[in-house]
Amino acid sequence: MNAVNYQKELDKVLAGLEGAGVPVSGDEREGRRLFLHSCCAPCSSYVLEYLCSAFYITVFYYNPNISSAAEYRKRAEEQKRLILAYNGEMAAGEREGNPIDFVEGAYEPDRFYEAARGYESCPEGGERCFRCYDLRLRETAGRAREAGADFFCTTLTISPLKNAGKLNEIGRMLSAEYGVAWLPSDFKKRNGYQRSVELSARYGLYRQNYCGCGYSLRDAEK
Ligand code: SF4
Repeated sequence: MNAVNYQKELDKVLAGLEGAGVPVSGDEREGRRLFLHSCCAPCSSYVLEYLCSAFYITVFYYNPNISSAAEYRKRAEEQKRLILAYNGEMAAGEREGNPIDFVEGAYEPDRFYEAARGYESCPEGGERCFRCYDLRLRETAGRAREAGADFFCTTLTISPLKNAGKLNEIGRMLSAEYGVAWLPSDFKKRNGYQRSVELSARYGLYRQNYCGCGYSLRDAEK
């Protein structure tokens, strides 16, 4: 069986939005509110550039997997700095798109350790990561529902080290559970990852050399 091309799935949603016409309620955000889970500023740089004209995006920074409070804070501050820069450029007419909101979740590493228990020695890309995806996307789906978002999504599919098929499978399952549409993606397609590297250099973003959890730090240091 051929693997699903999630970039093409996203193309279909974007084409549908273009043809959606004037919203009945008069609220221009109607049908376009996207709750976007972000793992870090570098990965979000391309995704925000790509989607901020089509959607009204709320970036949701929820990453209880990160190895220490200091590292968590550093990544969160870089995320906020990037959003401020993009919003500033939009206000100045230097960038097209809709203003981007930011919501920070709780840093609750105990939830991550609970999810990862028994899978500590898994290599990156294995079952521990699938549990980590589920933890972060589940929180995103719940918060998206509370916020009245039309879609939820994650920046994680931009990484060549992440399993886009699994992320989309989990997203679809949670969509059925929480009643918010999942926005399919495979952001690494169309040179998304390469573009995120360029944008990270342009904005001087901190680019960590490990995924996030202490186990990935351990493996990176080996
Ligand atoms: S390697 Fe990354 S995705 Fe996998 S469990 Fe660690 S933080 Fe989560």
